[in-house]
Amino acid sequence: MPRTSDLYVIALGSNVRHARHGGPERVLRAAVAALAHAGLGIEAMAPVIRSAPLGPSLRRYANGAVLVRSALLPPAMLALLKSIEREFGRRGGKRWGSRVLDLDIVLWSGGEWRSAGLCVPHAAFRLRDFVLRPIAALVPNWRDPRTGFSIKQLHSRLTRSLRAPREPRPDA
Ligand code: ATP
Ligand code: CA
Ligand code: CA
Repeated sequence: MPRTSDLYVIALGSNVRHARHGGPERVLRAAVAALAHAGLGIEAMAPVIRSAPLGPSLRRYANGAVLVRSALLPPAMLALLKSIEREFGRRGGKRWGSRVLDLDIVLWSGGEWRSAGLCVPHAAFRLRDFVLRPIAALVPNWRDPRTGFSIKQLHSRLTRSLRAPREPRPDA
């Protein structure tokens, strides 16, 4: 069967103002418009959340996610996302550093994909509240092909583990 259309969950993040588009939340909205302009079918967009920065950067992030339809295979999708990041002025830069736009492939309806420089599902998404929270609003019942858990389950497990005390209490 020829591949006519696949679904992808793309995570969006921004913690730098764009001269024309404005603050991080506006950057995300402009990025979704750019994805549509590039030919992806936007099926749904999760509510945008604000999150604390990870790593060396100090600025708060806007994080979001979109469900898109496309006939592209994962490497071509990644190339497209990187070209949109560049269009928004992102240049190389430090991993986890401040960036005007970050676009990651989190999930793909084809399941798992591994090639040079690409790992789908995204290697760290199960451990990140700022990724799971928007995605749980978008595709709560999508199953992670690696663990078999739904996104809703992954998110509630993460939330519980983040709330759990780090050391056993002596009286517990
Ligand atoms: P993280 O990957 O931990 O979220 P980051 O998004 O800040 O960090 P980048 O500098 O944007 O990291 O990307 C580093 C490389 O990760 C990219 O050049 C890309 O080749 C690779 N990569 C691997 N898997 C994926 C994926 N599922 N989505 C996007 N990039 C990926
Ligand atoms: Ca990222
Ligand atoms: Ca990235």
